[in-house]
Amino acid sequence: MQHDLLIVGSGLSGMRAAIEARQRGVECAVLSMVYPIRSHSVAAQGGINAALNNATDKSNEDSWEQHAFDTVKGSDFLADQDAVCVLTEQAIPRVYEMESWGTPFSRLASGRICQRPFGGGAHARTCYAEDRTGHNLLHTLFQQCLALDIPFYQEWYALDLVIEDNRCAGLVAMNMLDGKVAAIGAKAIILAAGGAGRVFAQSTNALINSGSGIAMAYQAGIPLKDMEFIQFHPTTLYGTNILITEGARGEGGYLFNNKGERFMAEYAASAMELAPRDIVARSIVTEIKAGRGFENAYVHLDLTHLGAERITERLPGIHEIALRFAGVDITREPMPVQPGQHYTMGGIDCDATCKTDVAGVYACGECSCVSVHGANRLGGNSLLETLVFGKIAGDSAADFLGTGPTLSGQALLNQRSKDREASLVRRFSTRGDVTVGQVYDDLRTAMFQNVGVYREAESLQLACDHIRKLKRQYTQVGLTSQTREFNLELITALELEGMLDLAQTIAEGALRRQESRGSHARNDYQTRDDENWLHHTLATPGEDGPVFGKKDVDLSRWEPQERKY
Ligand SMILES: Cc1cc2nc3c(=O)[nH]c(=O)nc-3n(C[C@H](O)[C@H](O)[C@H](O)COP(=O)(O)OP(=O)(O)OC[C@H]3O[C@@H](n4cnc5c(N)ncnc54)[C@H](O)[C@@H]3O)c2cc1C
Repeated sequence: MQHDLLIVGSGLSGMRAAIEARQRGVECAVLSMVYPIRSHSVAAQGGINAALNNATDKSNEDSWEQHAFDTVKGSDFLADQDAVCVLTEQAIPRVYEMESWGTPFSRLASGRICQRPFGGGAHARTCYAEDRTGHNLLHTLFQQCLALDIPFYQEWYALDLVIEDNRCAGLVAMNMLDGKVAAIGAKAIILAAGGAGRVFAQSTNALINSGSGIAMAYQAGIPLKDMEFIQFHPTTLYGTNILITEGARGEGGYLFNNKGERFMAEYAASAMELAPRDIVARSIVTEIKAGRGFENAYVHLDLTHLGAERITERLPGIHEIALRFAGVDITREPMPVQPGQHYTMGGIDCDATCKTDVAGVYACGECSCVSVHGANRLGGNSLLETLVFGKIAGDSAADFLGTGPTLSGQALLNQRSKDREASLVRRFSTRGDVTVGQVYDDLRTAMFQNVGVYREAESLQLACDHIRKLKRQYTQVGLTSQTREFNLELITALELEGMLDLAQTIAEGALRRQESRGSHARNDYQTRDDENWLHHTLATPGEDGPVFGKKDVDLSRWEPQERKY
């Protein structure tokens, strides 16, 4: 098995990259651990940002420059400003392209795409399809892939990225149906494998979002950037942590504490419920800690004043989720919400052309860190990133393949495939007392408790020590299910190895960063410290855990300023 270009991941970023490469005549295939349209992108609700100016009569009110500034300010000035300008300028053609490919967006009476306000944005610029935007976008791209005859390896799990002489050799992967390991040669690889949300308990992310693509790059020696920045979404449904889209507040929803107060007035007097996510999440946690939550666990998100008609027209998915999973009819009563893990701002270090340090290896989407989100991502900018940088990754790979590289490193690739097979055999014969599930749950709980919305040296040190202990335990983990065929316990065990590595980069990175910036809020260092910490964190694997370095932030357009809303 070999390809000119192999793409890992069939979410929005992977499929957009595949379409671009294929349109440029590149031979390529997409490999995904789930059927393509089950990728987490399908769950995106609220929308995608682009300064289309549809929601206003003044056609010049919003601009891509304003969108760029909002994004940079939202990022607490850690995003690379040159990359952010690419993101927001390209937003407009990318959204119209999806429209022309058939995405059924919600429409204004004028026929133009509907836009709603989202947190941290100066204008209503989040384009949406009810509260099922990701579903509609992903199906559109899948149709385009089918039309272009792009082949998919469905339900294949990527295990190892193989690099020789700083050049891409290919991938070792497992066919999940029969559990067989295979070497797939590739001149170029695009990693589009999504985020690492499942490293935390109380996550809105799909079970498959274990960050395995990020871990694979790290284990191959590619640096990870800014891993300590994890987004906690303010409103996830109490009990299940299913996401309640920011669109609910964008449509006018209010947050109340147990005293009946719209408490956001205390924290962000002018933006109120539409302050950026890090600020709203911290405000909710502060209210609950001060005894002003319900059952010491949640606050209320109230939409009743919007009226049943608007709720069922604009937010039908949320209406259904609250009814089914909390027994709450949001047209009549408020719903219980609490913050939950939501997004991985950090990821595989790459530049604004999606290039990593390794020739032929590219990254895009949530697994990458370009960086356009810095210390805090604005809602609606992630779907946007998948399309803008998915296209760019496809283009960069096509340019690279145009220079005529040959397939290389195949002997090493075959050796690594044999090594993998041997390690699987060992895993099947390990008879430890600890189960995969125990270490998995233990890790996720420890991460949510100690590396959560608020952090401090003590809790972070506790997490770092605990992860080291779990890493030792992991070597003794056996499998209760001995089959090779579609063994999900085996897949979880494989994911867990990477999750432990990533947890280390997150917790140790957070312990090192002695300041508060965006989503990284330290009780013991409560202010932003531009003098010492206005730089990206890089983490590479060392003998005994991650080794840290730094990288400059592009500040070519705006001077950092105080972040107020
Ligand atoms: C519930 C929810 C709602 C959201 N709503 C919004 C929103 O309204 N607006 C917004 O901008 N953002 C939203 N986001 C964020 C956004 O949806 C994601 O960041 C984005 O869709 C990620 O796309 P992706 O292509 O990078 O990865 P994904 O869509 O996560 O796809 C990852 C792919 O990688 C594959 N994969 C992973 N590991 C392996 C492996 N080892 N081997 C093989 N394949 C592998 C998976 O099979 C999958 O195909 C939301 C996120 C969540 C969780």
